[in-house]
Amino acid sequence: MATAANTMTSNDGAAIEARLSEERLFPPSETFSAGANISDPAIYEKAGENPEAFWAEWARQLEWVEPFHTVCEWNPPHAKWFLGGKLNLAANCLDRHLKNARRNKAAIIFEGEPGDTRVLTYYDLWREVNNFSGVLQHLGVGKGDRVTIYLPMIPEAAIAMLACARIGAIHTVVFGGFSADSLRERINDSQSKVLITADGGWRRGNVVQLKLTADEALEGGACPTIENVVVYNRAADPRHVAMTEGRDHWWHRLMEISPKRVDPEVMDSEDPLYILYTSGSTGKPKGILHTSAGYLTQALATMKWTFDIKDEDVYWCTADVGWVTGHSYVVYGPLAAGATVLMYEGAPDWPHRDRFWEVIEKYGVTVFYTAPTAIRAFMKWGTEHVEKHDLSSLRLLGSVGEPINPEAWIWYHEQIGGGKCPIVDTWWQTETGAHMITPLPGVVSTKPGSATRPFPGIGADVVDENGDSVPPGSGGFLVMRTPWPSMLRTLWGDDDRYQKTYWSKFGSKNLYFAGDGARRDEDGYFWLLGRVDDIMLVAGHNISTMEVESALVSHPAVAEAAVIGRTHEIKGQAIAAFVTLKDGFRGTSELAGELKEHVAHHIGVICRPDDILFSAELPKTRSGKIMRRLLRDIAEGRALGDTTTLADPSVVAGLKDKYENAEG
Ligand code: ATP
Ligand code: MG
Repeated sequence: MATAANTMTSNDGAAIEARLSEERLFPPSETFSAGANISDPAIYEKAGENPEAFWAEWARQLEWVEPFHTVCEWNPPHAKWFLGGKLNLAANCLDRHLKNARRNKAAIIFEGEPGDTRVLTYYDLWREVNNFSGVLQHLGVGKGDRVTIYLPMIPEAAIAMLACARIGAIHTVVFGGFSADSLRERINDSQSKVLITADGGWRRGNVVQLKLTADEALEGGACPTIENVVVYNRAADPRHVAMTEGRDHWWHRLMEISPKRVDPEVMDSEDPLYILYTSGSTGKPKGILHTSAGYLTQALATMKWTFDIKDEDVYWCTADVGWVTGHSYVVYGPLAAGATVLMYEGAPDWPHRDRFWEVIEKYGVTVFYTAPTAIRAFMKWGTEHVEKHDLSSLRLLGSVGEPINPEAWIWYHEQIGGGKCPIVDTWWQTETGAHMITPLPGVVSTKPGSATRPFPGIGADVVDENGDSVPPGSGGFLVMRTPWPSMLRTLWGDDDRYQKTYWSKFGSKNLYFAGDGARRDEDGYFWLLGRVDDIMLVAGHNISTMEVESALVSHPAVAEAAVIGRTHEIKGQAIAAFVTLKDGFRGTSELAGELKEHVAHHIGVICRPDDILFSAELPKTRSGKIMRRLLRDIAEGRALGDTTTLADPSVVAGLKDKYENAEG
């Protein structure tokens, strides 16, 4: 058992052990490779030999006002990319396409939750962005000013972001599901001058009252920097929306009285583009700062190579614009590539559990990018919802946000991809700005559960506590050895925290430490093991949450699982598992016993959970990630830590009751 596992010394002196062995291999099909944007494996070596030349070649695909003179300046831990260059990102996403055949191509296809649809061509989007740039200028917003965007998933979110980029303002998008407190905290941290919101947006047949929440955030002068609020009329009768005289303005009124054309501001490569607060799985949100040219370069490169994007594709990324995925892969990446992006406003199960599949069939979606949390929900709901629809237009699938359990991967591959679509499991972070570890679908054979190889030009490694690379098969800390174009430049207003959070763990070795544990196998493939803070220490063995959860999910009754280590007198920690069953299964004590045996058999007796608690829901962030630290609080009977980024606080309260009663 323990001795058979590959081990590596970690910071507590024990080991992050890798136990999951996955033998299935999916090589790219010949037809896929033949048509792929990149199919030559030699690119890895070529980019590895000279990453700067590799990235410079991509940067030259952007449209520059003035070319850059230096590719990268690295003063650890601060990097600058494409120095001396001048450009505008909105012009790269819009104006340049007006000069070619994309002028009348669909840029955004929008489907509202109630079923309303809109198509904006590149020309339409350019016109709207120009006009809204005029609105921002009319309100006195200029280069370097901050603008908070708090909108539903509607085209206006992209329009507002691109208008900021056009005039050089720094946007900070706050996910529409966040509370008044979270919105206020982010407005004040970024010192925004203008807030852009909507009366509401549709979610599960109801209107999410964004304007009311915004009013609550601003109440009593709580956000002193906000001078104006722009309100888009999405969902309600405007006569019923309370507008504060002098502060609040309807979007459509301002559009009428503002300039219709605004020339793009000439920006430096390193001028800030946006601040985005991380989702907060681990603690107080951090204001990640991204700049211009490097960010767009890597967003474009990954769009073309990871997603193999082509002009004829209908590309759908289900992430909200409130997350980094929505920034890089709903707005900047796809539009820079001239792609057609689908935007859907609402919930996947509204009005029925087949809404996503209905949308794919309706628009002939070819490339589909979603999160493991969604995939596990689809597994729970069952295949009958999928089978109602023709998904044969799909040619490529993507996953992001959490490790994808091998069984969820296989389900996605078979049920959604019809066994023919490559899956790109993309590891990256708000901080990294774009994909870092991901297959190139025309080149790399995939293994379910592995994000495979670093993108060409990316210096990822797995190291021990001293910052030395671990041997193949071992677990350790996932780090970056070299800077990359779309890396965060600092934390907004807190460079000390930037240095401490990301660059201090390995001291003078200047390694970017991402917070995640990983293992690299004999083929050089990376397997994400979860956050190192979540790793469990059971009887001297460091055990990854990801591996125990994947073992649980490989049981036919289980849709989703979260495991944590709770204090145990003898073992140090005991494993407690919170399990969500597929529809049609019941959480009996027999099943609990069976699951414990299943895990022990699958990955070792040491990993056998002490407790199994069945729950219809798990506590998740608003971006859908499991929050294990709250489960630890529950299991140890502590007061709950920061719950402000939790999607549904009632889930934790319910679990707390259940756990305490089960123990007693
Ligand atoms: P916070 O930093 O505030 O705790 P967060 O880490 O959840 O929030 P994001 O930047 O959205 O915020 O998420 C990045 C993290 O998500 C990664 O560090 C990793 O833990 C996880 N992740 C993302 N994609 C993958 C993937 N393909 N495989 C495994 N883990 C992933
Ligand atoms: Mg993080």
